[in-house]
Amino acid sequence: MSRYYCHDHPESLTLATPVLDARPGKAVLAESPFYPGGGGQPPDRGVLRWEHGEAAVTGFELADGKLWHLLASSAEPSGSVEAAVDPEFRRTMRQLHTDTHILNALIYQAFDGALVTGVQMYEDGTARMDFDLPGADNDRIRALEAPINEIIARDVPLTFGYVPLAEAQAQHGLIRSRSVAPPPTPDGLIRIVEIIGLDRQACGGTHLMSTGGSPPLRILKIDNKGRHNRRVRIGLVGPSVVR
Ligand SMILES: [Zn+2]
Repeated sequence: MSRYYCHDHPESLTLATPVLDARPGKAVLAESPFYPGGGGQPPDRGVLRWEHGEAAVTGFELADGKLWHLLASSAEPSGSVEAAVDPEFRRTMRQLHTDTHILNALIYQAFDGALVTGVQMYEDGTARMDFDLPGADNDRIRALEAPINEIIARDVPLTFGYVPLAEAQAQHGLIRSRSVAPPPTPDGLIRIVEIIGLDRQACGGTHLMSTGGSPPLRILKIDNKGRHNRRVRIGLVGPSVVR
């Protein structure tokens, strides 16, 4: 796997690309606009269209360094395809994923460098984040909702770059998660996502270009999951999501 197309071209959701390999129900493409999932962010959905057919993309499989696009039918694409990411799904994931960084940054600052122990985003515009927060007061966590929404309203820009893995590991706080460190690229680089002035951390997901692309966020629920683990459920405020 080289660098993801979706990281170098975050706004390009449709791509014409040759089929490199195909079997009934799956295909390898020369380039793919899809995010294949990882780091708590579910894989993109979408569709492949070619001269004699089309099929929904339902998932991904990485085998022998090749990314297989799994299809909803046993069709076998050939020639060149138009690969199209579901724009609504990607938008929701970018919003939610960016907001998990804001929550993560504020928890990290407010609770003495507390680390993430797990994260999962859902298509309904909600997510859960687990933090190693022994003894933290839930009201202090709940009180972060207002500053999260201030950061969204300020429309703070994000930047994206790559640093060598050793440098990322050496810099305190850059690898924020105990469970989901992003895989390095083949050249040993780790992707760094920065919310300017707020947070800088290793991450391989898809994000907004600035925080204002997210609707407001609610902290929905806080659960104690064991002595160390605090589970924070968040949700985007929007028409199909949290009201
Ligand atoms: Zn991220």
